[in-house]
Amino acid sequence: MVEAKHDVLIVGAGCAGMRAAIEAHDAGADVALLSKIHPVRSHSGAAEGGINDGRIAQRPFGAAGAPRTAYAADITGHVLVHVLYEQVMKREIPTYEEFFAWKLVMNDDRCQGVIAWDLLNGGLKSIGAKTVILTTGGAGRLYVGTTNAYACTGDGMALALRVGVPLKDMEMMQFHPTTLSPTGVLITEGTRGEGAYLLNSEGERFLKRYAPNAMELASRDVISRAEQTEIDEGRGINGNVILDLRHLGAEKILERLHGTRELSMTFAGVDPIYEPIPVRPGAHYHMGGVDTDVWGLTEVEGLYAAGECACVSVHGANRLGGNALMETITYGKRVGRHAADWALANTTVEVPPSVEADAERELKELLDRHDGERPWSIRDELAESMHENFGVFRREDQMRKQGEIVEGLRERYERVVVEDKGNVFNNDLTQALELGFLLELAACMVPAGIERKESRGAHARPHDYPNRDDENYLRHTLVTMQDGQPKVDWKPVTMTKWQPQERTY
Ligand SMILES: Cc1cc2nc3c(=O)[nH]c(=O)nc-3n(C[C@H](O)[C@H](O)[C@H](O)COP(=O)(O)OP(=O)(O)OC[C@H]3O[C@@H](n4cnc5c(N)ncnc54)[C@H](O)[C@@H]3O)c2cc1C
Repeated sequence: MVEAKHDVLIVGAGCAGMRAAIEAHDAGADVALLSKIHPVRSHSGAAEGGINDGRIAQRPFGAAGAPRTAYAADITGHVLVHVLYEQVMKREIPTYEEFFAWKLVMNDDRCQGVIAWDLLNGGLKSIGAKTVILTTGGAGRLYVGTTNAYACTGDGMALALRVGVPLKDMEMMQFHPTTLSPTGVLITEGTRGEGAYLLNSEGERFLKRYAPNAMELASRDVISRAEQTEIDEGRGINGNVILDLRHLGAEKILERLHGTRELSMTFAGVDPIYEPIPVRPGAHYHMGGVDTDVWGLTEVEGLYAAGECACVSVHGANRLGGNALMETITYGKRVGRHAADWALANTTVEVPPSVEADAERELKELLDRHDGERPWSIRDELAESMHENFGVFRREDQMRKQGEIVEGLRERYERVVVEDKGNVFNNDLTQALELGFLLELAACMVPAGIERKESRGAHARPHDYPNRDDENYLRHTLVTMQDGQPKVDWKPVTMTKWQPQERTY
């Protein structure tokens, strides 16, 4: 059943995965990409506003001291993904397209490959590798209101967790302040970079009361909290505030924000040249993820992670806009190089038949089940309750309630039924497997949030712990699963040149 063996196998073909593949290839390794969707459909392609790097075409972004976000109109991710894919094709790097990674192969205390479901033909396939790099992106689908695509289900984080790698800072889910109502589609920070206003139901630029200096360019957590407060205190409009671009004029909107205009017209029926856009905070980016060092290496030999699924902790508790794409390119390159060098210096790859047999047995058990609950109802309850109880603001009682809800959903998941028993594009099966991943991640996030008894970055507890507490909590949470239950631990923060500061807006 072993399909192939490689020096380096990269699970995920977004910006981080493709950049890692190019670097590993150029270092002389036999490298392959594996992705559950076609590489150019990876979620990186949805990135709109820009990337902090270099000196070309700079625009202002939230909380940045000066304009430093390079952009290609408001389709920056799309452009990056296509350029990277061209380079992958030029190098003839093999890609397992529409392969769903389900398990990591552990042998001899080392990660030596992946077991994946072949979406086009059906069946489990094992792909051996001396090193595996996880670049599977974020997990925004944990929430009902999110900017993330359906594919963003945190698979790589859960795969790492299942082989004993700790997840770091999982409570740090960033909410983006301008997501389109009702879909959650992102309206880029680039709109505010170009001068758009946020208004409440009284027509007031309410940020003057929360961030009088930075106004609409305050950091995302500050603006999300301000919006949520306005909405909670009755100054919203149908659960939203409004983003006004009209004063920018048609010419600027058409030249620099045409993607935003198209999205607003298609998904909210609003043309921003003439009308303001209804927006609200939505889950956007996971600062937490697989605990790695600065070369992307995890605690498990041979296993690396990069991009949004990793937590090197370059973003701390609050990523600035434009830094995620920068991370994918910078760390994709570093991790690709390290994984290739390690693979070229070490020779063996073996996928033990027992690992394959266990996976086959587990899959058969799931597919043979005919009575039980459908995955979608559990998925909906998870996403709605996470939004309600683990959103922009967090309260102890709500988080504890959410812990119980997640526990109950995990129990129900044990009896989940996949109705489609077929081989070709069995999305019913893959969505059930994704739900398993999501549930485990939620089970890690909630206790980490409860244990962090302070407010920091994306983690806001205004009712019981409104302040940042560096003395006790300037440290990372680390969550592992022990006998199926999350265990929260701590890890010191490595400080180098820049010391933590309190910022005023
Ligand atoms: C709407 C939106 C706009 C954004 N705009 C910006 C911006 O302007 N600037 C910025 O810096 N950041 C932005 N971000 C954040 C940034 O785009 C992402 O953090 C980044 O693109 C993630 O890249 P990645 O390579 O880590 O993952 P992704 O691009 O999400 O790629 C993940 C890959 O993993 C694969 N995969 C996942 N699970 C499996 C599995 N089980 N088996 C096989 N393959 C799997 C997928 O198929 C995909 O190829 C934005 C995010 C969103 C949601």
